Amino acid sequence: MKNMIRHFTTEYDLYLQDESRKKGYADTISFPMSNEEVSGIVRYCSENDIMITTRSSGTGVGGGAVPFGGHIMSLERIKHLEMSSDGMSVIAGAGCSLNEINRFVNIRTGGDLFLPPDPTEGTAGVGGMVSCNSSGARTYMYGPMRNYIKRLKIVMSDGNILDIERGEFFASGRKFEFRSETGSDNDQARVLSGELPGYEMPKVKNAAGYYIKEDMDLIDLFIGAEGTLGIVTEAEFSLVEKPKYIWGIIAFFRNEENGIDFSEMVKDCDELRNSIMSVEFFDKGSLEILREKAGSSKGSGRFRIIPSEFKEAVFTELKGEAHEDMILALKRLEDLITAAGGNPDDAWCAVSGRSFEAFKELRHATPEGVNNRIAEIKKSCPAITKLGSDMSVPGKLFKETVKMYKRDLENAGLEYVMFGHIGDSHLHVNIISRNEEEYFKGKEIFAGWAEHMGMIGGSISAEHGVGKLKREFLVKMYGEKSVDEMRELKRIFDPKGLLGRDNIFLWDIVR
Ligand SMILES: Cc1cc2nc3c(=O)[nH]c(=O)nc-3n(C[C@H](O)[C@H](O)[C@H](O)COP(=O)(O)OP(=O)(O)OC[C@H]3O[C@@H](n4cnc5c(N)ncnc54)[C@H](O)[C@@H]3O)c2cc1C
Repeated sequence: MKNMIRHFTTEYDLYLQDESRKKGYADTISFPMSNEEVSGIVRYCSENDIMITTRSSGTGVGGGAVPFGGHIMSLERIKHLEMSSDGMSVIAGAGCSLNEINRFVNIRTGGDLFLPPDPTEGTAGVGGMVSCNSSGARTYMYGPMRNYIKRLKIVMSDGNILDIERGEFFASGRKFEFRSETGSDNDQARVLSGELPGYEMPKVKNAAGYYIKEDMDLIDLFIGAEGTLGIVTEAEFSLVEKPKYIWGIIAFFRNEENGIDFSEMVKDCDELRNSIMSVEFFDKGSLEILREKAGSSKGSGRFRIIPSEFKEAVFTELKGEAHEDMILALKRLEDLITAAGGNPDDAWCAVSGRSFEAFKELRHATPEGVNNRIAEIKKSCPAITKLGSDMSVPGKLFKETVKMYKRDLENAGLEYVMFGHIGDSHLHVNIISRNEEEYFKGKEIFAGWAEHMGMIGGSISAEHGVGKLKREFLVKMYGEKSVDEMRELKRIFDPKGLLGRDNIFLWDIVR
């Protein structure tokens, strides 16, 4: 397997970073094409104490796929896709993208079934989506990727292979035990056992640290583990029936805060409970970015320019099985737009095909626009990385939290863009630092909010994970003791700390 490992040269420079724009360094890189090749490379690295940073598509925004020494293993070439024998799930290699899965499932099921989670970035890979438990707009109705993961193939830190199915291994209270199979005839199967950390996870959307619960299904340990417990080579995802109708509505508001009021009303509306798939918010900074994108020659130009009088927008997706129900839901939404201080005539509606795709593109263009701005600033100020928060709060505290965000940022004189999954009570607050001073000011503000999240039962990461950028925030959320317990858990799976070193927490700590 040593011959599969290439020396790192500048032609692979793109593999030193992810969408956080943090940049690392590495000695070697590989592109395995099968389980066996992954296993062989891991064995070699394990015997030679070489750290492995795994990546699928590099669209993560937490720096988790950014290496700091050692080996990069890119799983982008593990691309197989097939339907399960009952036709109700899809089996995908770690390098398949979300777009590839969606296209495949659509063709193979004649559009009857789909994989609901939609983490906005269609090029995200299976390995990354599993390892970040990615979610997105439709999580509002359907939950995150975790809910659809039926089975995983994982190469463990010694090269052994674990094929684990949901419902197969459970913890007993907080004690656990399972067997990984050998990748070769010469080795012994390995039994892994130990104790899960003692912390309770917050009761909000959460992707920070390991997923831990008493009596938990042990497949859940690997979902959201950010490449620290094993390398995912294949996943089987359950599919669900695709709604007959999916319509998109973008409500625009001329006054700030009307959009937030509207979102709260939509979430509280009983008649819309079974119709609303997603509720997404855009503040005035986001609308500015979208105006630039729609008007620029580099942009796709597929969505219209947003009139300058609009200060906030909310994108909702409505689903249903009957046309009359869709019309009723739409009317109810119009009432709520009016009640929140907006005008239904300002709204845009897409019922199919290209216009619906243009809405999805508009949603995607917001974070992409922010990332491009950061990349541009980074050219003259290399120390800057993306400063984007991903915190979630209990629903009843949401409005006052947004007020806190705005107050702190405006008092500090920082430029910011706020958008995202308001349906799940979390927004991505992105600070556009124009120089190092602003960057460090922004970091300090985020640290203060992280502390606040720990106190109010929120999470420092609702969906992107901790990676290498939010490790200190995790300590503020859970405390040192719980993070130590996470480290001890990793030690059981990866005694030398070679996999995803320094993701979630620092491996070697000096106290
Ligand atoms: C424009 C944009 C919008 C986004 N919107 C959303 C959103 O709405 N919701 C959301 O949840 N995310 C979003 N993301 C973040 C990102 O797309 C997701 O986190 C995605 O799941 C990452 O997948 P990837 O294949 O690119 O992972 P990578 O960046 O390659 O890796 C991410 C992490 O997973 C680990 N990893 C990767 N592959 C494996 C593997 N095979 N085995 C073990 N560990 C592995 C890496 O080590 C790293 O820690 C967005 C990103 C962008 C750029």
